Amino acid sequence: MPRRALSHPRFGRGFGLLRRVTSSRRKHIALVRDLYRQMDMVEDGCLCCGNRDFSLLAECDRYGFDLQKQICESCGLVQTYPALSQSFLDVFYRDHYRRLYTKSDLVNYDHILAEQNERGERFHRFLLQELDAAQIAESHVVEIGCSAGGILAYFRDHAKSVQGCDLDEAAVRFGAAQFGIDLTAEAFPDSLPEGPKIFILSHVLEHVAKPKELLAQIRAHMGPGDHLFIEVPGLNMVAEGEYSHNLRAYFHIAHVADYSAATLTAMLAQAGLAPLRCTEGVTGIFVRHEGPVPSIVRDPQDSVENVRRIERTFGSK
Ligand SMILES: [Zn+2]
Repeated sequence: MPRRALSHPRFGRGFGLLRRVTSSRRKHIALVRDLYRQMDMVEDGCLCCGNRDFSLLAECDRYGFDLQKQICESCGLVQTYPALSQSFLDVFYRDHYRRLYTKSDLVNYDHILAEQNERGERFHRFLLQELDAAQIAESHVVEIGCSAGGILAYFRDHAKSVQGCDLDEAAVRFGAAQFGIDLTAEAFPDSLPEGPKIFILSHVLEHVAKPKELLAQIRAHMGPGDHLFIEVPGLNMVAEGEYSHNLRAYFHIAHVADYSAATLTAMLAQAGLAPLRCTEGVTGIFVRHEGPVPSIVRDPQDSVENVRRIERTFGSK
């Protein structure tokens, strides 16, 4: 077993076992663990660059799942490796995700919509730093993975049209009834409007088994004047106090990859997309990049030492 870069025992297998058996969620954790142990893990190389040279960071996550977080030594992307398969993720999101995370099958739509409304307002402000209001007003906003559509409901008053899709049929039904907007239960919209478009991926890419494929699919529907807005939870923000400085809480089973601004930008570059702006948030606006896919240059900050630096902030107020 290679040496673990996050050497504190709370990132080790023993702590994971303890966490699994003492957690108030232990029954559900056992079900999910049985599921991934019955299915093949994926070892196709790094999600971004395909290389197989990894450094081991952690051997357990928020819930004590014995999954490995590793950093690719070629491009610097932190990811679960070996990876969970799409077949596992499909069953996990359908049957387990909500109960594991919220301890309930009941969905608190008030909570979801309040969070989505806050995001809608914040994303609109972010877009206004790169695009003018008239440009947004002339655009069709298309959200992939829109849940109950609260972000789109915010954009309805600021864009030409809004539409969204999500595999969560109940959320889509709820949102369509609540807001009267065009929401469909599918992974990708069956049809798209003509004219300038702003695609939104809000806290979606980090959950997708093959992010480059989703990005390529979106790019194929983007023209020269179209934009892709993306937000994922930023790894470096844990050092700034998100997740209460707790890197083990940030590392959790649903996060396939854990992005910095540079690793997200590198992932998008591989899909032929270039940033207008990308923060460590990680929040960014991207456009089509024409020409050959650039070779990946690892940002020196995306290193084992940086992950250790983030971990050293644990316990800060
Ligand atoms: Zn890589």
